[in-house]
Amino acid sequence: MRRFELNYEIAVVGGGPAGLSAAITAARAGRKVILLEKAGYLGGNATLGLPLLGFLDLDGRRIVGGIAQEYVNRLTERGQCLGHRTCPKHNSVTNVDPEGFKLLAIEMCREAGVDIILHVEACRTEVENGRLNRVILFGKGNEISVEADIFIDCTGDGDVAYLAGCSYEAGQPGTGVLQPPTVMFTLENVDTMRLYDYIEEHPEEMTFSATIDHRPGYDADYFRASKNHVFVGLRKIFDRMHAEGKCPVDRETLIYIKSMNDGEVYVNSTRLLNTDATDIFSLTNAELEGQLQVAKLTKMLQENVVGFEDCFISSIAPTLGVRETRRFKGVKELIADEICAGLIPEDTIGLGAYKIDIHSGTDRSTLFRTVEQPFGIPYGCMVSAEIENLMFAGRCVSVDAATLASVRVMPQCMTMGQAAGQAAAMAVADRTAPKDVDVAKLRKELYAQKAVLDMEQVQTLPMNEF
Ligand SMILES: Cc1cc2nc3c(=O)[nH]c(=O)nc-3n(C[C@H](O)[C@H](O)[C@H](O)COP(=O)(O)OP(=O)(O)OC[C@H]3O[C@@H](n4cnc5c(N)ncnc54)[C@H](O)[C@@H]3O)c2cc1C
Repeated sequence: MRRFELNYEIAVVGGGPAGLSAAITAARAGRKVILLEKAGYLGGNATLGLPLLGFLDLDGRRIVGGIAQEYVNRLTERGQCLGHRTCPKHNSVTNVDPEGFKLLAIEMCREAGVDIILHVEACRTEVENGRLNRVILFGKGNEISVEADIFIDCTGDGDVAYLAGCSYEAGQPGTGVLQPPTVMFTLENVDTMRLYDYIEEHPEEMTFSATIDHRPGYDADYFRASKNHVFVGLRKIFDRMHAEGKCPVDRETLIYIKSMNDGEVYVNSTRLLNTDATDIFSLTNAELEGQLQVAKLTKMLQENVVGFEDCFISSIAPTLGVRETRRFKGVKELIADEICAGLIPEDTIGLGAYKIDIHSGTDRSTLFRTVEQPFGIPYGCMVSAEIENLMFAGRCVSVDAATLASVRVMPQCMTMGQAAGQAAAMAVADRTAPKDVDVAKLRKELYAQKAVLDMEQVQTLPMNEF
């Protein structure tokens, strides 16, 4: 085996929306930064064809800025994003071209001077007296041992924190049931306009169960008006298929994202119940079964849904989309009562307002509850309570299960990544621990980077900014 010993000021593990934002921000602040990623590309779930949800609140006001808005602006300039559009169901939808995002991620890392190693997976840590000295990664017969002043765990599952022995919680309260993962896939040659004619004639296809909130206007005209939408519907067809034992997925409806290309949709409708994506056997089963569901669901759509008759699968996502695993113990925990009350604490590093969106891990239902007003994401939920030089950003932060179901959307993960990267840079410069970072100074820096931190700012922001 070849062994390498590396030394950095800041090491970010995981190059998804959170990790990219953390690494780019820390490097822009002048620190020596490495980004370590197990896949052969950057972007994490932002490359699966998913839209960025969570930019706008229930009233259509933009509540996210900073690096998240910068990705949108730069992709829009290239014709790879359509900006933000309000949505009666999801508050807002911001479609991005997944391949465009992948390439922009490389460019932004290079511009900022982030060193990158791909194809390496964190597999060991060395912890001494509450300090993380090293993360050891492995890839293709190479062992990479990384020393850093500060580590930021952006692996989604919190693999670094887990390997370092940190405490965590997982799943819904009481049961521990995890939201199910999904294998995303792309269909071509879908005649969406015929589908919208069909749902106009059959509005019952757009009825939802009592656990799903939405506003009026989520209808054929809305879908026809722009490619910037997410379609959730076909309730009656799915009910009928289930009743006949012919529905291959545990779902109440079809969900797809209309891509910017004619006839192309990204389908978000496979569901792997009772999966724990941190258990390698369960993960393997979900990947394989999920891929098989793709073929079966496509056949069901071809045979039963107007507009899908001649569609074909053009790609299956290279990796399972995981909604929920571990949430680590931070110096603060953000909980559902606080987000539902719209609290914006003094140490807020960004805002959220997305729905509490819980896909059932044991049946075909989904809970989709409105968050009435924006809430603040406190700095402390990204700072490990147990390891002095460890931070988290993205899906593994310190929140309860219902809060994760809102803040897991990508703009909020990017927001957390940016704040973690900036805080880590300040901690290195001041030779202090993340928990001792001057949060007022951090907020000032984030404000200068156009992050959105309070409601006063929200009142004045344009929805789109190009
Ligand atoms: C099916 C599905 C649909 C969703 N729909 C939407 C949506 O429509 N809009 C929206 O905004 N959000 C959506 N989300 C939520 C959102 O995609 C994620 O919560 C978000 O991407 C989390 O960002 P992250 O950076 O924390 O993690 P990820 O995007 O998962 O990125 C983690 C990165 O870390 C890498 N990594 C993992 N483990 C290791 C390791 N041990 N060593 C090295 N690297 C590692 C991974 O390869 C990956 O690149 C959806 C999620 C899923 C699964």
